[in-house]
Amino acid sequence: MIPFLDLNQVNAPYLQAIEDASLRVIRSGWFILGNELKSFEKAYAEYCEAMHCIGVANGLDAITLILLALDLPKDSEIIVPANTYIASVLPVSYLHLIPVFVEPNPRTMLIDPALIEQAITPRTKVIITVDLYGRSCEMAPILDLARKYDLKVVTDAAQAHGATYEGRKVGSLADATAFSFYPTKNLGALGDAGAITTNDDALAEKIRYLRNYGSVIRYQNEYQGINSRLDEMQAAILGVKLPYLDGENRRRREIAVRYLKELKCRDLVLPPGDKVSDDAWHLFVVRHPRRADLIAYLDRYGVQTNIHYPQPIHKQLAYKEYKDLHLPLTEQIHEQVISLPLNPVLTDDEVAHIIQIVNQFDLQ
Ligand SMILES: *Cc1c(COP(=O)(O)O)cnc(C)c1O
Repeated sequence: MIPFLDLNQVNAPYLQAIEDASLRVIRSGWFILGNELKSFEKAYAEYCEAMHCIGVANGLDAITLILLALDLPKDSEIIVPANTYIASVLPVSYLHLIPVFVEPNPRTMLIDPALIEQAITPRTKVIITVDLYGRSCEMAPILDLARKYDLKVVTDAAQAHGATYEGRKVGSLADATAFSFYPTKNLGALGDAGAITTNDDALAEKIRYLRNYGSVIRYQNEYQGINSRLDEMQAAILGVKLPYLDGENRRRREIAVRYLKELKCRDLVLPPGDKVSDDAWHLFVVRHPRRADLIAYLDRYGVQTNIHYPQPIHKQLAYKEYKDLHLPLTEQIHEQVISLPLNPVLTDDEVAHIIQIVNQFDLQ
């Protein structure tokens, strides 16, 4: 069986360095808000070509902290992509803000910039863009709209570490960008972790307070913050892995290029083949009208797949107040998407096997 993702294999090349870093943290006796975090924040800000990086506990908190720091009036409307993981939207409703779902572009499956303007009202305050599957959203028209209507742009780049847009790194484009270092992401910790990047000095400072109870000087609180800190152990581990992120992303691109060129199967819709080298290829998401048959067939021939994601947010019980929303494209995407294995430890032989098996589906 070719597994969808084997984390032991992904982390194997770094095991010794990770053990050394972990031991260093254990022996230091300092576990929260220390030098490991400082040095990772500096390295990740540089990597993202951003002025600031603030390490936090996870990707969900990264989005929550950005919205919290923007201090928006209750009932502000936040434009969100309808096609995304639920974690992009939970912080909005958690803070009593109102998500306004916008359909994706059918080709990229990312928020369609052409549909955003009609969703803007006087109560709109923020556009959340999500670089889903590893590809940056079309930022130029979105940033233009934000300027025109005086909105903030927040990017959820939990799947897009290392992706670029028009020569600039994801993490440097929006007012603030949220990252997750959940173990399966392109840059993954060995536990929960996340970060925020921004070029806004005041916003960065406020988020630094907010992640630590609203306090920078101990027992002196300027804001009602939360506890969401990236701990020293995870920061040290991420510091070990960061220098290898570009190499891993290069391997992901190689595999994506092969898939795009060699996958040939009737009714199979491939992801767009432009901007291949801008994309971080977190996932290789194809569409097929007979999804269940294709998944069962691939499983029979030893190829493990996944679905990102099986149910749209507005059809989840958690968002039942939105269940009557009509978002046909998003719903169709959720019925048809299949993620093929794409990770830096897939071998050329495995890639060839996957391509051969998929291409024989029509002969069934
Ligand atoms: C993983 C992910 C998140 C949440 O990150 P956590 O670290 O698990 O909280 C948010 N948005 C997207 C698009 C993700 O893929």
